Amino acid sequence: MRNIFVARAFKEDANAQAWAFRESGVVELNYGFTSAAMIYATAFCQFYDALATTAKDVDFADDDTEVLLMILEEIENSAFTPILVAENSRNQWRESGRIYAAHPALLDLPQSRNEGDYHSFVSATEEFAIAHEICHHLLGHTGVTHRRRSQVNALVQERLDRSGAQEICSNLNPDQLQEIEADVGAFLLIAGELSGQATRGRIYRSLAGSMLALVTLGHISENWISREGPGETHPGFIDRFDVMSRIVREFTIPLTRGSIGDHPLGLLLQFQGFISIVLQFWMSRAKSEVKDPHFLNIFSWMMDQAVELEKELNSRHNTETSS
Ligand SMILES: [Zn+2]
Repeated sequence: MRNIFVARAFKEDANAQAWAFRESGVVELNYGFTSAAMIYATAFCQFYDALATTAKDVDFADDDTEVLLMILEEIENSAFTPILVAENSRNQWRESGRIYAAHPALLDLPQSRNEGDYHSFVSATEEFAIAHEICHHLLGHTGVTHRRRSQVNALVQERLDRSGAQEICSNLNPDQLQEIEADVGAFLLIAGELSGQATRGRIYRSLAGSMLALVTLGHISENWISREGPGETHPGFIDRFDVMSRIVREFTIPLTRGSIGDHPLGLLLQFQGFISIVLQFWMSRAKSEVKDPHFLNIFSWMMDQAVELEKELNSRHNTETSS
């Protein structure tokens, strides 16, 4: 294969696809995917702000319980409303086939975000979807042979082995396994690892783009939980998310913390919290025994996880001061 062409599509399903044309690879990205990615990017930003507000501004020692509960309710509303609007608008959107996946009000950004950061987040998500399709070409899944095929395959397999994802992969059919390989390849491609040029900034971008892309695809296809059976071409969201989390963990745990104490695994934790709420909302509607999520539950779970992560990073990198 000599060239890979990428184009924007406005019809058909809201996702991305790869196909071969003569000697070239083609990748299509549907605008409906971008539209859904914008909505989920907004929902994530609102969730992030709610976490930050709770951590910084809420005084849990306050004696005035009524005021405290009111504040928490307000925070919960701001964190959950965008997720619910996205969730509730899905069917109408799918039936009409229109591009906008939800009410335009959802595109309102939280005040703390500037537009540049937001659009960079959305384009990182598009990049992941495109990179996933490019990797189908690079890995030889589309029937054309790229000169880097064996090299890319070896890198992807090495990461899959090291991340401990074999058990998940062993339950998938060959088509589903190709999807997982394309996900892993896409993460490595955006992070710069395929070209030996990984940087901290690119790793963060790849992490954010991959996580938001997987949620967006889960939303569009409503394929949240695993689907079994020989005819199913794509793994469920949970399997893809599980593998990607392991890949991110294995890839980033050797990194030391950044100048503000940040670490990619801290960002991964924020996505894990966000995704568990999105999933729980969906499940509470699909299964009567599942209750709606509760913001404080997820917040305290995330705090516990953050403490564990802190300990692990400290012991690994020995950055704790002795004083
Ligand atoms: Zn694919």
